[in-house]
Amino acid sequence: MWDIVLATSNKGKIKEFNAIAKAIPGVRFIPQEELGVQPIEEVGLTFYENAIAKARHACEQTGKPAIADDSGLSVPALGGAPGIISARYAHKNATDQENVDCLLTNMQGLCDDDRYACFHSVVVLLSHFDHPFPNIFEGVWEGQVLDTPQGDSGFGYDPVFYVPTHDCSSAELDLDVKNEVSHRGQAMQDFSMFMSEVLE
Ligand code: IMP
Repeated sequence: MWDIVLATSNKGKIKEFNAIAKAIPGVRFIPQEELGVQPIEEVGLTFYENAIAKARHACEQTGKPAIADDSGLSVPALGGAPGIISARYAHKNATDQENVDCLLTNMQGLCDDDRYACFHSVVVLLSHFDHPFPNIFEGVWEGQVLDTPQGDSGFGYDPVFYVPTHDCSSAELDLDVKNEVSHRGQAMQDFSMFMSEVLE
């Protein structure tokens, strides 16, 4: 069994990672909090830098392999915002609700085409803290920003992210369905294939 430290404190992400781990025999994710690892401040300018920094910190603190996701919603009509600051778009310690409200305010009056948005996920696996070749898995999920929230599953911007393929918001999808199609789900499908080769 591979114990991999999950370098996040985001409850929504932990739930999604755990559901995915059930389908990967031989892999167990341990949330970093259970091992006393505190989250780090995210100061990178890219999803890659932040994901590597989070995984590296968890490896360093625990001596175990670690996995981290850095992700966010990008709206081209807002110049790519909220992007890498998705978790703190409204302010440093913002709640999901405050971030959603801030996004909806900034998007008021935009036409349908300008409501196009996509989620990005960069997942990094590091086997040890000074690993020079991190394994990187990525996913992009395209949709639109709704003008009012719908649904109560998920986290973050899920209630305002319209999923055209399923004609509903991401917060109206079952967790398993979200994991099949989402940015993080896509990245984790590649991670899962990688792990099955490693474990063979
Ligand atoms: P970070 O990767 O911890 O810096 O934060 C990612 C932020 O992006 C989350 O706090 C959410 O606001 C947003 N986000 C990332 N993935 C999702 C998702 O699957 N659904 C909704 N919001 C997401």
